Amino acid sequence: MLQYHFVTMNFDELFPAETNSPDATVVLGEHIAGALERGDVLALYGDLGAGKTHLVKGIARGFGVDPEEVTSPTFTLIQEYATDPPLYHLDVYRIEHTAELERMGVDEYLHGNGICVVEWPERMEDMLPTHSIRLRLSHVDSVRRRVELVTIGSGE
Ligand code: ADP
Ligand code: MG
Repeated sequence: MLQYHFVTMNFDELFPAETNSPDATVVLGEHIAGALERGDVLALYGDLGAGKTHLVKGIARGFGVDPEEVTSPTFTLIQEYATDPPLYHLDVYRIEHTAELERMGVDEYLHGNGICVVEWPERMEDMLPTHSIRLRLSHVDSVRRRVELVTIGSGE
């Protein structure tokens, strides 16, 4: 398995970022992988097509997973990668009530020893740990995407 070789950076150095292709978003994801630590929860906000899954592909590649393997687990809700630390990819687009997630034991992923990356985190806002790192992805144009850190309580 590949090992990620990016110098660890912190989130403030990485964002705001703008990418101009899907591949560039994957590369940004690899850099994000270098900034993630065991126990982190990364919440990815953004509309359909904003590039959340491409970012997760890059994060996965950063931990040695072939990005081709990474697709949005819209139907399965959770995809687990046996990396070190383990990587959990959640896509909760279809969730209507967080009780469904509680029944599935999602809390154990959120408060476990792995790294949890969540697409559509607004669907489970009340379950997100206070230490969650929040990123917002947005369309700039057909090939450009902006990725920025969301700071809670900034009065937005
Ligand atoms: P999401 O998970 O947010 O719905 P995806 O990553 O699945 O988004 O899809 C993003 C779509 O936008 C893909 O069709 C991709 O080819 C396209 N795209 C165009 N430019 C970019 C970019 N800069 N970054 C990421 N995706 C891009
Ligand atoms: Mg997606």
